[in-house]
Amino acid sequence: MEEKQQEVKKEYKCKYCGEAFGKPLLLAHHVRAKHKRAKKREKKGLSVEKMSEQINKTIEAIGILKGLQVSPHLSDEEKKVLGEVSKRIEELLAFIQKSK
Ligand SMILES: [Zn+2]
Repeated sequence: MEEKQQEVKKEYKCKYCGEAFGKPLLLAHHVRAKHKRAKKREKKGLSVEKMSEQINKTIEAIGILKGLQVSPHLSDEEKKVLGEVSKRIEELLAFIQKSK
């Protein structure tokens, strides 16, 4: 009788929803069936977050370039180069935001 009680006590809890299973195999099946998708979505959400972080940094960089462009210490040639560089980055940014 005592032995049986100990067996019942042994359970494997799902780390996602807390549901308990008698065997590790059952738990693995449960996780695969119920949580695999959620896990993938989580990953995707993270990369979208990183992407918008990158976009924000790029927008900042364009702002810096545009600030430099009006600096009195630059020659017309240098200003022209800066203008072209920031235009190129802006185009890339617009392309990324469109395809997002
Ligand atoms: Zn679960």
